[in-house]
Amino acid sequence: MSVTQIHSTVDFNTPGKHHGQLCVPYSYDLGGWANLLVPVCVVSNGPGPTALVMAGNHGDEYPGQVAILRLMRELEPENVRGRVILVPALNMPAAKAATRLSPLDGKNLNRAFPGRADGTPTEMVAHFLTTVLFPLADIVVDIHTGGRSLDFYPCAHMHLVEERQQRKQMVEGTLAWNTDFAFLYADIAGTGLLPVEAERQGKIVITTEMGGGEPVSAAVHRLTQNGLRNVLVHFGLIEGKKITRRDQNLPPTRWVQALSRDDYRFAPESGIYESLEPMGTEVASGQPVGMIHFLERPDREPQPVVANAAGVLLATRGPSLVAQGDCVACIAHDVDPALLK
Ligand SMILES: [Zn+2]
Repeated sequence: MSVTQIHSTVDFNTPGKHHGQLCVPYSYDLGGWANLLVPVCVVSNGPGPTALVMAGNHGDEYPGQVAILRLMRELEPENVRGRVILVPALNMPAAKAATRLSPLDGKNLNRAFPGRADGTPTEMVAHFLTTVLFPLADIVVDIHTGGRSLDFYPCAHMHLVEERQQRKQMVEGTLAWNTDFAFLYADIAGTGLLPVEAERQGKIVITTEMGGGEPVSAAVHRLTQNGLRNVLVHFGLIEGKKITRRDQNLPPTRWVQALSRDDYRFAPESGIYESLEPMGTEVASGQPVGMIHFLERPDREPQPVVANAAGVLLATRGPSLVAQGDCVACIAHDVDPALLK
């Protein structure tokens, strides 16, 4: 692939703690030689693994951005073994605008991989990750939520990668978040995802859906911050005692999967979506999980959205207004434990 045009003001190989920026060249009418600045911090101390920890891949997903901003201030080289590279807002213009897609080019960073050296700002960031940052990393952490459009029961999630050693390490890292659910998901909405490129490069990829919707509860912030620290402790990158769910008197994490397209429910018509069940509820096959109401046709019965099969309601629509084709629910099913070995 061609050489990146993004300049980093930090040298990733210099020991110590360094704050800086990734400078993404782009032009606009009042800035012919402008740069989009993406904050980055490297904390490095001697031999050990490298973790690349990111959030704001989608701009409107904030718990991970806050957790990484905290780590950027708190982590010191003496607390680290190896190297931690922190990027709190991968899609900086989207994070500032509270949008999923970049307002600069309308692109979804999480559909832009492997990216383009000579592409739009979003494509250039994807290319920089693919060609510069992923090759430095052993562990790749990408913290998502459902954004404004979808609310998730806060969970860690992963793809079921083919390579067994990689899969085992991803399972262990996913469990280190100490979430109630761990979720095996499918790419039902396009290609070019960040985790897919990192997995292809053999990385241990650890990702989450830490809630969603506009407000973020204190509990979700706490879960995200404690989970991220615990993941870094688990991989030996920062000092501290690894916390388990048993330590907190919690039952084991429940593994669920939504690997079939039918596990994701889409609005058959536009209208007002009413969620009928709280997230985490067990639902039966054929059970309505939501209703679409029609303001312009009060005489019409609302349109039910039903579960395709029995399972647990893991995610539900964020905004009340839905357009035809919007994903409004995800129903997940228990996982065969043999898949996790
Ligand atoms: Zn996301």
